[in-house]
Amino acid sequence: MQHRIYILYTGGTIGMQRSPQGYVPMPGLAELIAQKMPIHLSANMPDYVLEELDLLIDSTNATPLDWHSIAQRIRDNYDRYDGFIILHGTDTLAYTSSALSFMLRDLTKPVIVTGSQIPLSELRNDAQDNLITALVLARHYPIAEVCLYFNGRLLRGNRSTKVKATGFDAFDSPNYPWLGQVGIHIEIKHEVTRPAAASPRFELPQYGQHRIVPLRLFPGIDTDFLQHLLKSPIDGLILQSYGVGNAPDRDPQFLKTLEQANKQGKVIINLSQCLQGRVDLSSYATGSALAQTGVISGFDMTLEAAFSKLQHLLALEKSSDWVRQQMQLNLCGELTA
Ligand code: ASP
Repeated sequence: MQHRIYILYTGGTIGMQRSPQGYVPMPGLAELIAQKMPIHLSANMPDYVLEELDLLIDSTNATPLDWHSIAQRIRDNYDRYDGFIILHGTDTLAYTSSALSFMLRDLTKPVIVTGSQIPLSELRNDAQDNLITALVLARHYPIAEVCLYFNGRLLRGNRSTKVKATGFDAFDSPNYPWLGQVGIHIEIKHEVTRPAAASPRFELPQYGQHRIVPLRLFPGIDTDFLQHLLKSPIDGLILQSYGVGNAPDRDPQFLKTLEQANKQGKVIINLSQCLQGRVDLSSYATGSALAQTGVISGFDMTLEAAFSKLQHLLALEKSSDWVRQQMQLNLCGELTA
């Protein structure tokens, strides 16, 4: 039986074309592929079907509702295909990959998100390799989880982050080993991939009802500012603290403000602003003081994973305590507790 891969173009540089205002997403990626890289003529290439979203976007415009509609497409087509490739803009690709991992919780087939730094429409580009390799991986090296493929690196979707604005090696997963590396040979590290589930499990609650704000601490941040922010109608705060999870403790009102917000039911996560490492609230007095306010550890999650996980858990409409407890559990490979 012929294996078929479902490709969804959502927008992003990979399929963009020049316009007087700069690059814009354009419909007709299938025609562009046929014209620039007739991969469907190669006997080694898996058969694929390419669909495009009605509204193609630059991923800087993406919202949690967009993550949700991509997950819906995969769920609705799940039984018909052997693997899924999502073509997406790089700017928020790590958010979408993370969000998909929470909605497509247990997988039996690969879902690979990719994009490019230079559009396929240009003579020199990284789009061709990213697309062809993602197809080869989905067909011949299927890993049953949401992955991100870019420039020779196969990463866990919810561990990845964009680390370079213009380099081809734009993505990395600072707190988790790469799942695979593609050079002359394709090497998959099966020992760090998630085992395929016995059956798929999708969880797609209504998205877009909750407000979450990441706040990066900075020297001199004051209590007034924090109070003002926490008085606004937000449901969650991701406090990007220093080092292993430290926040200023000289002003007791600063910590009191966090404690009060917690008591009001806002979920406050402590995440390190360092690219690599994890939150350990017991190392310093400044960290312990934060823990006593009820702020919970985000361990070694990326901002993208913590943000989309919190969005997902809040969408399930359970109690704040339940959300806090789930935030600290490893649900699909996103954290090391
Ligand atoms: N702004 C573009 C986007 O995220 C950048 C890219 O795709 O590389 O859609």
